[in-house]
Amino acid sequence: DDRIARIASAIRVIPDFPKPGIMFQDITTLLLDPKAFKDTIDLFVERYKGKDISVVAGIEARGFIFGPPIALAIGAKFVPMRKPKKLPGEVISEEYSLEYGTDKMEMHVGAVQAGERALIIDDLIATGGTLCAAIRLLERVGVHVVECACVIELADLKGRERLGDRPLFVLVSST
Ligand code: 5GP
Repeated sequence: DDRIARIASAIRVIPDFPKPGIMFQDITTLLLDPKAFKDTIDLFVERYKGKDISVVAGIEARGFIFGPPIALAIGAKFVPMRKPKKLPGEVISEEYSLEYGTDKMEMHVGAVQAGERALIIDDLIATGGTLCAAIRLLERVGVHVVECACVIELADLKGRERLGDRPLFVLVSST
């Protein structure tokens, strides 16, 4: 698919952000290219349309950019998975480990119902810890995670292996 090459080349790599040694994959340049941005959304929509998915769960913050247009196009609801203390209603939360320390992810109680079929969206998978927390939140309330989808995979970090038997779909695999 020649759309993938254009998407890959629209992603900018910023060395030493947010700290020395990190090669940060910056998707804001992808958003500046309307054709590449549209192709990104279209590729996900083509994959998930007609798959009986009623929930698109987007991970803060860049899952909030890619998730909603996919949700609208496939006729699913959009559910934000947020950093602590951002959601105003009652929440359930899951801790996950970072390189140093831990973080938490929260979801509104009542946003999803047991038995629903969900797609989880983020911009990038590194170690997979973030996606795992989102999977746990949804599965705790009886939702079936059909697939996780990211624009970019940092393949060397083998985050895919942490997802167990939930499939991961990515557009660009970076080494
Ligand atoms: P993980 O939990 O898989 O180690 O890290 C993935 C999370 O960190 C995602 O929410 C992603 O947005 C963020 N992240 C880590 N590294 C990068 C990067 O190089 N570029 C971008 N855009 N996000 C990153």
